[in-house]
Amino acid sequence: MDTITTLIERNDDFVENRFPSGLKLVPTLKTLIIGCVDPRVDAAHILGVQLGDAAIIRNVGGRVTPAAIEELVMLRKVTQAGGGDMGAGWDLIVLHHTQCGITRLGAEPALLATYFGVDQQELAGKAINDPHEAVTVDVAALKASSSLAGGFLVSGMVYDVETGRTEVVVAPSLLREETTVG
Ligand SMILES: [Zn+2]
Repeated sequence: MDTITTLIERNDDFVENRFPSGLKLVPTLKTLIIGCVDPRVDAAHILGVQLGDAAIIRNVGGRVTPAAIEELVMLRKVTQAGGGDMGAGWDLIVLHHTQCGITRLGAEPALLATYFGVDQQELAGKAINDPHEAVTVDVAALKASSSLAGGFLVSGMVYDVETGRTEVVVAPSLLREETTVG
């Protein structure tokens, strides 16, 4: 059976047995997660995130890149267009993991520099090879971004692909005291 047929069969089963109707666009947990595209680290499975619980941005490494920041800004506009807001009372979680494929890109400094929007000399500061250090770097990058609402509780986690265990590396703390974009 080809992949598309398999997936459509699984969707049929979802529609019949598990589809929760009436979900809202704004996540019930008021949570945004930035995680990696790695097929082993889907938050729905490893953290039990249910449909409608959280908005999840996935990219290579689960990194806080300029593009990820832009997406967060867009998501806030989307929420505001619906009459709500995003910031105070919300969690913003950076989720990295062990054995991340981004560590295989050491021979691609130009690619990585473009990805992070930095000069190649600054790549060492992005801690590509150490998920614990990288999650700390990325929480700091979120806190340094003036584009984001201040009220978020920002935290950093690392998932171990060998044990299935997720560790809180950076405890939740306020992105900034103020809750409006400065
Ligand atoms: Zn990864």
